[in-house]
Amino acid sequence: MTEPNFATLVSRWYEENARDLPWRKPDVGPWAILVSEVMLQQTPVVRVLPAFDAWLARWPVPAALAQESPAEAIRMWGRLGYPRRAVRLYECAVAIVERHGGEVPDRLDQLLALPGVGTYTARAVAAFAYGQRHPVVDTNVRRVVCRAVAGQPDAGPTTRPADLVATEELLPLEPAAAALASAAFMELGAVICTARTPHCARCPVESSCAWRASGQEAPAGPTRRPQRYAGTDRQVRGLLLGMLREATGPVPQQRLDQVWTDDVQRARALAGLVQDGLVEPAGADAFRLVGDGPPQPVADLTH
Ligand code: SF4
Repeated sequence: MTEPNFATLVSRWYEENARDLPWRKPDVGPWAILVSEVMLQQTPVVRVLPAFDAWLARWPVPAALAQESPAEAIRMWGRLGYPRRAVRLYECAVAIVERHGGEVPDRLDQLLALPGVGTYTARAVAAFAYGQRHPVVDTNVRRVVCRAVAGQPDAGPTTRPADLVATEELLPLEPAAAALASAAFMELGAVICTARTPHCARCPVESSCAWRASGQEAPAGPTRRPQRYAGTDRQVRGLLLGMLREATGPVPQQRLDQVWTDDVQRARALAGLVQDGLVEPAGADAFRLVGDGPPQPVADLTH
């Protein structure tokens, strides 16, 4: 009898140990999976859970979101961070309605053509929503493959074509089994083969792991330095966006000026929000969330 291979071992472990998350339920649809993948890109699971439930309760299908405004998407996004993702999801919903009759497409090329949907998200939706065989490679998967196969402590900062190839080589040929393995690799990287404290003693592939066999220590320090927030433009952007999110219409410049005393930094943060398509001028001396009302003439931000 042959030994179970890498994907089989990790998939078995996953079936017994996977966290019970709402986007993994068997009856969850492609739209919910797309929403979860976008939310999870830069936000921890624990913060995504309530936002995911609220989003799907309000917009259970793409058409429901498409008939609202990007401003409402930004409001619902709340404090999840990186709010451009909310606008991208709104644009995605519109594109899904216009190009695909309101159904999230199942073809990889069509998924990749949706606004803001990149290599990872397109493959994640194709695999987890439609049971297709694609390498779904995020930071966690890159780290697992890098350690278990290549014997290196950590992967590089971005996904390269070689990472997709290395992961695809580990997938079973049968599509449903490959999709399961993809979810299992991600989970293993998220909860067992973590960046700084891998729990090798509990790992289903410990006996064959190249990095474990090499006897190397886990990287000692954080792989990324925590980003400073207080006093940064990000904080000012958050304050401005918070005020605009809570308003029911345009907010006069005078009120926005009260959120931060440094005029130069405040103006830079506001201009950044406009440039990112999150905020727009509403008349000469006011601003609002993008699409939050009828079109307005564009004001000159330099004045
Ligand atoms: S044995 Fe350790 S390093 Fe290797 S894949 Fe498992 S958790 Fe990661």
